[in-house]
This record gives sequence, structure tokens and C-alpha cells, in this order.
Amino acid sequence: MKRGIAALLSAALIFMLPGCDLLGLQPATSASQVSSGGDTLEVHFIDAGQADAIFIRLPDGQVMQIDAGKNSTGEEITEYIRSQGVEKIDYLVGTHPHEDHIGGLDNVINEFEIGELYMPRISASDTPTTQTYEDVLTAVSSKGMTITAPHSGDVIIDGGGFKAQVLSPAGEDYGDLNEYSIVIKLTYGDTEFLFMGDAEAVNEREIIDAGYDVSADVLKLGHHGSSTSSTEDFLRRVSPNYAVISCGAGNSYGHPHEEVVERCSGLGIDLLRTDTDGTVVIKTDGQRIDVSAEK
Ligand SMILES: [Zn+2]
Repeated sequence: MKRGIAALLSAALIFMLPGCDLLGLQPATSASQVSSGGDTLEVHFIDAGQADAIFIRLPDGQVMQIDAGKNSTGEEITEYIRSQGVEKIDYLVGTHPHEDHIGGLDNVINEFEIGELYMPRISASDTPTTQTYEDVLTAVSSKGMTITAPHSGDVIIDGGGFKAQVLSPAGEDYGDLNEYSIVIKLTYGDTEFLFMGDAEAVNEREIIDAGYDVSADVLKLGHHGSSTSSTEDFLRRVSPNYAVISCGAGNSYGHPHEEVVERCSGLGIDLLRTDTDGTVVIKTDGQRIDVSAEK
């Protein structure tokens, strides 16, 4: 079993070598490809229990999926995506290899045609040996796919008036899988979304120190609203209208932590929670933002 993991890892890592990451990646679209009705960006924070799963329909109709929930809900997530009339996921992101983010990633890889797959490069000492991670690598390998490991600063989508840029990870050996989280800022017109994965305070500091404009209308709070993320300084700089927390009712971690809820309310940020609101869908034409919740 271990040897199997090592072989898969080395196969996957071939595609993570520096310099190979994003070479040849073309702009996702051009204005001429934008369909007549395709001017709305939709972001669905799927109620996946104590886990993350975010479905995004880009303004040109392409699809991005950030994380895919737990092993136990992999099929529910694929059903949700299918219910959106989707057959291909153009950009699939596994923010970091914890089960509550990549548990259902193998289901998604097996069920859909996948364009680009992004997962962070993990140091040898931090590389997980879990069955969950092995399942994902097996799915990747069996479909002959490659993994791209993005780095802070990489623009992974640029076209048709919208852009997705990676703000983290910047480091190569964190010692904590959460800190490898791929953080993405998605911009469309005047609207901005910031997806934090399970990024922690150290990543928030790195992102600020790198000088990124982190301001956003919608912030997917890091690490399910844990107090180890969402520092006051970071929240002030992002200054979102809405903060979304993806967490399960009565979860054993106590997420979201009360400090984070208070920090948000103190800054006048509206909280949206998948445990109480169910699946949250945010739509924008690049100017106006519409929020709807399942519950
Ligand atoms: Zn998590």
C-alpha cells in the first residue's frame, strides 16, 4: 500500500516541478466566446456539512469547483454539480489534502470531464499517507490527468472580463496542511470574491506582506470560522459585505468560533453560514450582488 502511494506521488510530483506549473496555460476565454446569456457569475457555497464545496459558474459558462466535501458526501456533491447541467469542470481546485476538502474529489474526477486540476505542492515531511489522498491520486492517475501546483501570484484564469489569481501558498514547507491552502481571489467587473480554503493567520500575514489588494465583497472565511484564521487586521483589509462560513451544525470543533463571529459583527460584516442557511448562492453581473440561501 505504502509503495503504491509513493509511486502515485512521484507520478503526480513530476507535474509539480518548478517551471512546469503554468506554462502553456492559455487565457480561459476571449470576448468572442462569451455566450449571449453568459454574463452572470454564480458562486454556490454548497451545504456540505463540516466541509467545503464551492461550485462556481463563470460569466462565460465555464465551471470552477473549489473543494468537494467529505468522503461520505462525495456522491451528493457530484449530484449537486450535475443538477446544474454541468458535464465538464474546467477548473478543479483541491485547496489542501484534508478529508473535509478532498474527500469527494475522487468522485468529481471520476464523474466529470476535468480541465485543469490544481492542488498545492506539499513538502515531503507533510505529505499525507491517508486513504483519502491516495484515492484522489489514483483517480488522477487513472484518468491520465496532471496536477498543477499553483503558487502565490499565479493568475490561473484571465479572460472575458474576469480573473482568478492565487494569493497563497507562498511557502514550501509549513508543517501544517491547512497552511498549504490554495487561496483564490476571483474578480468580475467591480465585484471581488476571496476564497480562503483553510488558510491560517500565518497565510493572512504573508498575503498582506506580499502587498496584494485583498479587498473583496464576499469572503469565504478561512478554516470554517476557526479563531486561528480571520485576524482582525485581515478582516479590516478585506472589508467584505458578506462573510461565508462553511461548517456543520453542532460540529465538534466549535466552528465557527465565537471570537470570529464577534469580529465580523463588530466590523458590520453580514455572516452567511451553511449550517444555518444551508446552501448559499451568490450571483452577480459584475456590479450588483444577489444573495439567496436555502433555509
Ligand atoms: Zn477544513
